[in-house]
Amino acid sequence: MELLKQRILKDGKVIGTDILKVDSFLNHRIDVALCLELGKELHRRFSNCAITKILTVEASGIGLACLTAQFFNCDVVFAKKSPTSNCTDDVYSAPCHSFTHNKDNVLRVAKIYLDKQDKILIIDDFLANGAAVTAMMSIVEQAGAELVGVGIAIEKGFQGGGDKLRAQGIKVESLAIVEEMSERGVRFRN
Ligand code: 5GP
Repeated sequence: MELLKQRILKDGKVIGTDILKVDSFLNHRIDVALCLELGKELHRRFSNCAITKILTVEASGIGLACLTAQFFNCDVVFAKKSPTSNCTDDVYSAPCHSFTHNKDNVLRVAKIYLDKQDKILIIDDFLANGAAVTAMMSIVEQAGAELVGVGIAIEKGFQGGGDKLRAQGIKVESLAIVEEMSERGVRFRN
């Protein structure tokens, strides 16, 4: 999606060789007008899929998930990364290694918020190695729900997570796929 690619080129900051910082429009300050356009485009790509729920992970997936959900007229459920008093026993859970924080988390979703009848779209801000999406897929499977696909703002194609999922037959739609990046700049997959 050209709008997102141009914004990454203008405001994205490459840290080392594999972290892209987009705090000025997606991960800290949220450009709502831009994210609405991202949501509209994700809706277009999954428009004939009868989605009943969007699943994402806290914290940075929530904004995009909510703006996308407006177009599907559905609710968002976000996986929590730490146990809380109101999210204890009756949960689906899956381990997830955080690439950015180099830390092992457990994602948890209360069982009452996912139904067997749900057709679920997973949304996240980034797709790198695929750990977060794979953990959310496990939660969808535990719920007996149907995974319709995965919608991502920025995929780092060179880390391979997206292509592994596509090889499993999963519909993965990423609005910008970064093929290569360094301090000199970012190159996108065509
Ligand atoms: P994965 O689990 O696919 O390896 O990584 C995806 C998760 O890690 C996303 O939920 C995202 O929050 C975070 N992430 C991975 N790479 C980046 C990156 O380059 N920049 C930012 N801001 N987050 C990232």
